[in-house]
Amino acid sequence: MITNPNTCGLFERDMKAISDAVHAAGGYVYCDGANFNAIVGKVRPGDLGIDAMHINLHKTFSTPHGGGGPGSGPVVLSKALCPYGPIPFTELFEDGHLTLVEEETAGERHPQSFGRMAAFHGQMGMFTRALTYILSHGADGLRQVAEDAVLNANYVLRSLDDVLDAPFGGAGPCMHEALFSDDNLPEGFSTLDIAKGLIDEGFHPMTVYFPLVVHGAMLVEPTETESKAGLDRFIGSLRSLAQRAKAGDTSLKSAPHFAPRRRLDETQAARKPVLAWRGDLG
Ligand SMILES: *Cc1c(COP(=O)(O)O)cnc(C)c1O
Repeated sequence: MITNPNTCGLFERDMKAISDAVHAAGGYVYCDGANFNAIVGKVRPGDLGIDAMHINLHKTFSTPHGGGGPGSGPVVLSKALCPYGPIPFTELFEDGHLTLVEEETAGERHPQSFGRMAAFHGQMGMFTRALTYILSHGADGLRQVAEDAVLNANYVLRSLDDVLDAPFGGAGPCMHEALFSDDNLPEGFSTLDIAKGLIDEGFHPMTVYFPLVVHGAMLVEPTETESKAGLDRFIGSLRSLAQRAKAGDTSLKSAPHFAPRRRLDETQAARKPVLAWRGDLG
């Protein structure tokens, strides 16, 4: 199983050689489709030797990472794995029409299918949203989606790599995610301080502390929809936060100051959510 492009925002160029080696050893290749946003309309996963891939509709087609989901992902199979696919599935015919294959007919037509999925329809709203997005963009529009998402991420990367450490900045252009570490932040300041400071600047913070292989990771995924003005505003905010940290501005340590809540115990908030208003909680 491989994620390509990977979580450091890099495209694995030797993918075909990797797949060939796996196939030569009698194996199959699974690809995590989490970063499809960078290559949609540009690369056909089947051409890279991938046999199975889920497409995170809640990431690529209209929603950025961290956009809240709900998660939804059709799984696509190569010709080699197709006969074993679970029922029900959709089948595409030569004349272009699609049918939903249910279990009654699949028994005769697809005797090697491994059986019926208990849950199939998934998050219907995400499917509708993704389909709408795909149809409204068309093939050329989806290619543009990938190009704009990648361009936007590289613009963020190169606009900030003088104030924030970009651990893979030397590897050339990134894919649709710009990755920074906390390496350039002064003693006493952390990625969390920058993320909380962004709330005061009016931005939903980027993904932080992921991927785990990068210390204090800040993973910025602007997507294809941001305007240059919006990106410039974000870059300006992040730059000013990095400079405030460098200047030793300790007010950053208690940000956010302009949100309804200060810093929460996020683990407790997730494990024991208080869903009703209680005045004594402040
Ligand atoms: C988002 C993400 C996941 C998790 O996928 P979900 O479908 O959102 O649960 C796994 N791997 C990578 C690399 C991701 O970016």
